[in-house]
Amino acid sequence: MSAPIDPAAVVAEFIDAVAPYDPNPEADPVAVVGVRTAFGQDVFPMSDHVIRALCKALASYRDPDDRGTCNGCGSRRIDENLHCQDCGRLHGILGQVIVDHARRVAAEDHT
Ligand SMILES: [Zn+2]
Repeated sequence: MSAPIDPAAVVAEFIDAVAPYDPNPEADPVAVVGVRTAFGQDVFPMSDHVIRALCKALASYRDPDDRGTCNGCGSRRIDENLHCQDCGRLHGILGQVIVDHARRVAAEDHT
């Protein structure tokens, strides 16, 4: 397990990291983000610059377990070996190489 994350502290750090580059620091906040967790709660007024940065950061996040969608059955449950947990299909370049190799070996067996 990783260390516990204090989401409000992370949001505060994010604002500290981004706000200095706000081209319009005197402008009124355009959004208010509230965070309430076991650690407590905080409310963060955000400028246009900061909320845009936050949205970009969220949009670019990808779950470490996200290995795309199975093109066999559409499942999103693809394991670390790029094996679809639902239909068993093998993905990725290596998966294709293994499938091709297996097919070649199978074909040679028949001749
Ligand atoms: Zn599948």
